[in-house]
Amino acid sequence: MFTNIGGKIKTLAKVLCWIGIIASVICAIVLWTQNSRYNPTIALGFGVLIGGVLSSWIGSFFMYGFGELIAETTLNRQISQSILEMMKKQNTDSSWAEVGYDEPIDFSQEGVAQSAIRTGEFLKSHAARWECAECGSMNDSSAIMCKDCGTYK
Ligand SMILES: [Zn+2]
Repeated sequence: MFTNIGGKIKTLAKVLCWIGIIASVICAIVLWTQNSRYNPTIALGFGVLIGGVLSSWIGSFFMYGFGELIAETTLNRQISQSILEMMKKQNTDSSWAEVGYDEPIDFSQEGVAQSAIRTGEFLKSHAARWECAECGSMNDSSAIMCKDCGTYK
């Protein structure tokens, strides 16, 4: 019931926007049907129509944006958590030396920003590296052949 709040707010924003637009159209039509020589409502109807549609539309921006903000924040938190989990796992491996770190990251010592920078470096260096199809060695992105067995990339 309370999952994906951001998505729900976005849906609600769209629904309210459409309700506002439809209500404006209905109000305008009602006004127009009551038009008479002594009670001209054509201009008023247009005013209600345009004003109602615009305010519904613009009002929905804020609500939609708010929903998007929540959705984005939730997603970011999930990504950070999974990266942190991955790094904690990686921390116990010897592969830190492979990617150029002498010592595993100490999460208790290091600041969040520092960890994030190192995470970025780690992901970049890992994404760029390629695994040899023959022997399974990890090679630098710049290498055209495997450093262990000489097989071409
Ligand atoms: Zn190889």
